[in-house]
Amino acid sequence: MTKRALITGVTGQDGSYLAELLLAKGYEVHGLARRTSSVNTSRVEHLVEDTHDPDCRFFLHRGDLSDGGRLLALLQQVRPDEVYNLAAESYVGASFEEPEHAGEAAGIGAVRLLEALRMSGVGARFYQAGSSEMYGAEPPPQSEGTPLRPRSPYGAAKAYAHWLTTTYRESYGLHAVNGILFNHESPRRGEVFVTRKITRAVARIQAGLDDFVYLGNLDAVRDWGYAPEYVEGMWRMLQADEPEDLVLATGDSATVREFVAAAFDHAGLDWEKHVRFDRRYVRPVEVDALVGDASRAEARLGWKPQVRFAELVRIMVDADIELLKHEGRHWIDRPDLPAWQG
Ligand code: NDP
Ligand code: GDP
Repeated sequence: MTKRALITGVTGQDGSYLAELLLAKGYEVHGLARRTSSVNTSRVEHLVEDTHDPDCRFFLHRGDLSDGGRLLALLQQVRPDEVYNLAAESYVGASFEEPEHAGEAAGIGAVRLLEALRMSGVGARFYQAGSSEMYGAEPPPQSEGTPLRPRSPYGAAKAYAHWLTTTYRESYGLHAVNGILFNHESPRRGEVFVTRKITRAVARIQAGLDDFVYLGNLDAVRDWGYAPEYVEGMWRMLQADEPEDLVLATGDSATVREFVAAAFDHAGLDWEKHVRFDRRYVRPVEVDALVGDASRAEARLGWKPQVRFAELVRIMVDADIELLKHEGRHWIDRPDLPAWQG
């Protein structure tokens, strides 16, 4: 029988990769997408195009995690086997400016979905997109046993959703798991996140469109993995017989400075000539170092990331260079070059 999945946040980086993965596995995939005044479905457009095909297995539903009634109706309509809750305002920096809003989607939104699932009586398995940001001030390496000490409104909201997911599992017997994922990136990463901001800037500087990129704290340490591999880990978590909260990470650590240096170097540029400091990008409080220990996920699920730091940087820089060419801005913005060179 065809399995059905519901993905909230399907228009995001992970949602789009997860939809592709599940479709490739033969699932019928239903995605929740916000109603917006401009198009927000660019990451799943290639899947949406097929909706007139009678064999189409991808369906978009408009809705928002702020609307519990809509979530209940959707669950009753779709009757999924698996629910992946990926929706959130996922940018930590913005959560300091809009703390209530951050709590609304990442925290209360998760509870609305859990409550709708419980009320619907649909016995779906539930995946909650937890974050290494929940560890906050706890030093690395962080693993499942590390206490949660969030240091941002986003991290605190995710910690709330984490404990509510645990509570629903223990109270109502829901098959619900928290994936605790360390930073994962790709060419589809949102442009505000530091990796993508850097790789886009490298492409533009190499093309002569910009001279500088402005960044904040270069000393922060992160554990950056490759998003398509992490959505495979999410799926594996829901296939396990017993629900268990697990960390997904590479275990590698690098500073923002090291990411900058590797990205510029890959494009043959000297980063020190192009990177400038801007205090606007410094957060009120910083999470200094996140480096995960995913050995339990490897033991339980056989999950082990293959794409490591250097390859990730290459993938992202190459993709942004390519994207810029296709945007057609490569030459148009350079009046010093004759148009025919494009
Ligand atoms: P994105 O920011 O790319 O995607 C977030 C998605 O949530 C978008 O589809 C967005 O819609 C949607 N969304 C936001 N608010 C609402 C709302 N109120 N109702 C419905 N949908 C909403 O994030 P990622 O794909 O990178 O991450 C997926 C999840 O995993 C997020 O919850 C994130 O916090 C978490 N996570 C991500 C990590 C990472 O490194 N990428 C690490 C750990 C956790 P729209 O397109 O309209 O903006
Ligand atoms: P996060 O780990 O979820 O906060 O992911 P980000 O990609 O937003 O940030 C990673 C790290 O890069 C954080 O420690 C930021 O403080 C740091 N950083 C430094 N400069 C910038 C910047 O210009 N933009 C962003 N987003 N982060 C920056």
